[in-house]
Amino acid sequence: MAEKGNRKGKAVAGNKDKWVGTKIIDDVFTDEIALFKPRFEVNIEAYQKRLWEANPDILKLLKDSTDLEEARDLIFTYIEKAEREIFKLDNDIHILQKATARVCIRTLKSIFGQINEFRTKTSALEFLWKLARDEKSIMENNISAGFILEFINLFRGMIGKSTIYFQEGEVKKGIPGFFKMEGSEAAAARMESLDEMSSNVKKYLMRYPSGLEEQVKSWRQVNRRKILRYFNASAIDWNDYKWHLKNVIRTSKPLFDLIALSNKQKEAIQKAVENKIPFGITPYYLSLMDFKLTIGYDHAVRAQVLPPIEYVEMMAQCRKDRSKHFDFMGEHETSPIELITRRYPGIAIFKPFNTCAQICVYCQRNWEIDRVLDPKALAHKDKIKRALEWFDKHKCIGDVLITGGDPLVMNDKKLDEIIGALAQKKHIYRIRIGTRTPVVLPMRWTDQLIKIISKYHDPPKREIAVVTHFEHSYEITPEAMKAVQKIRKSGISVYNQVVYTTENSRRFELVKLRLDLRAIGVDPYYTFNMKGKEETRRYMVPIARILQERKEEARLLPGLDRTDEPVFNVPKLGKNHLRAMQDHRVVMILPDGSRVYELHPWEKNITPVPPYNYVDVPIYDYLEELASRGENIRDYRTIWYYY
Ligand code: SF4
Repeated sequence: MAEKGNRKGKAVAGNKDKWVGTKIIDDVFTDEIALFKPRFEVNIEAYQKRLWEANPDILKLLKDSTDLEEARDLIFTYIEKAEREIFKLDNDIHILQKATARVCIRTLKSIFGQINEFRTKTSALEFLWKLARDEKSIMENNISAGFILEFINLFRGMIGKSTIYFQEGEVKKGIPGFFKMEGSEAAAARMESLDEMSSNVKKYLMRYPSGLEEQVKSWRQVNRRKILRYFNASAIDWNDYKWHLKNVIRTSKPLFDLIALSNKQKEAIQKAVENKIPFGITPYYLSLMDFKLTIGYDHAVRAQVLPPIEYVEMMAQCRKDRSKHFDFMGEHETSPIELITRRYPGIAIFKPFNTCAQICVYCQRNWEIDRVLDPKALAHKDKIKRALEWFDKHKCIGDVLITGGDPLVMNDKKLDEIIGALAQKKHIYRIRIGTRTPVVLPMRWTDQLIKIISKYHDPPKREIAVVTHFEHSYEITPEAMKAVQKIRKSGISVYNQVVYTTENSRRFELVKLRLDLRAIGVDPYYTFNMKGKEETRRYMVPIARILQERKEEARLLPGLDRTDEPVFNVPKLGKNHLRAMQDHRVVMILPDGSRVYELHPWEKNITPVPPYNYVDVPIYDYLEELASRGENIRDYRTIWYYY
């Protein structure tokens, strides 16, 4: 078992130049970071025993082969034979186990193929071969428990013995009870099983209260009074967004005075402030935090704005050249001129304003946002003019996302001017406003603001849409609902993009968010896989979990509640739809248990743009993190079978 609390984020010192950019290896491109991440010391003997028990045939083949290439030949022959077995008439493996077997076989072929060894500069087959032959040198590669568990599951899965279904014996022939009945008897049996599923979901949902629940509302009333007293302010001030902007918390003292913090949190905040790491929290958002650490519902709220120590250290280390080091999306390479980014034929991003009401720790643009409410955040008028003229030369752009920074931190007059200038361009049929204000500053949605924005909403000529970012049900409050309802009453739709992190990825946690969003009038739009930047590694969730969530949790909701698409934003290219299995595959498993994915560009089959190699966080590490948060890991056991 790996050591607890020793997870992630150590590949830092002396290695920072390797974080930057991407390079082409043959016909794929990959990040210029070391594929081999730091690993823990583990005792792998017990896992090794289980590995060979999972498939003794493979152990024998590996042991019997004299060199790696012979092992490869024998294993491929074995895998192909297993594949043929699946299609035999007398094969009595459950039909869904066969489906899993096909996926495992596809994955194993991909991992054991020479081309992927070349591209990833590693050979999982060689590690397994040496393990089987008890070669001591293998220990130098620090094979992890995560690596071995991946192969235990692949080896079981490929022969139809995955542990997905507990009741393997009963369902061998694949026909559940209600299918063998008829009429009302069948309906009654089916209802029973659906009711059971539903009550199971409800048990999970109860774990994640929203800010609309009476008890949470009353806690927050107390918080609000305390904050107002501290700032010597009134209830009228609280409803004035300008008061909140004036009192954004940027130093440690008000935080230490107003909420309970762990020593670690205090140390990180102090360091962030000293090192001028972008940091800020609106009084409103602060009021969403539990004032006692023991309540614990507010983990996602805290994680959003309280930077962890490793984040602070890395940001401080790269302070001077942050713009290069943390530009994970390669925006430098997709920005034709300043303030514009474009990754698709008909869509462009326009960034006239470069700051926010508060700073999110895992912001994709933490490389360009210098500080909260930066007075120099508004781009120079000449730059804005040039950006607007750029749209005149690119009339194929019909959909513009104004983002930043948060454009709604701009004053009304400036916002009006910018939206007005875009609205004059006849080819722009949609203007999206990307803003977190419904979440962090809902009082920003004044009648005046609604008036300004809604005058440009002119169907069918032009649509204005608001795209926001709620991370957790705990952020949904009566104030947020009021803001959203105001927007919707003016005919404007509100969509949500959520980032899937360790803070909202427990079983049915995102289901609860989707339900709470719909209840206040927000449509779920995208679920983003958290991208691989070292400074925010502790928040990252493996791709397998996002796929598992979609299949085993989101799927239980009515269609209108699960309108979001799980996506991976490929650097320089744009969104890969993770549900499309033909658009990604696992090509390698590294010794630390990380999967390497080949993610195909959205324009596959249109233009021959190379795919992108992505090194994910190990599933094992993620499960360990969940366990440390009190989760029952058995609940997540099927995660290994999502590729
Ligand atoms: S509001 Fe958006 S742009 Fe601003 S810090 Fe948060 S994630 Fe980044």
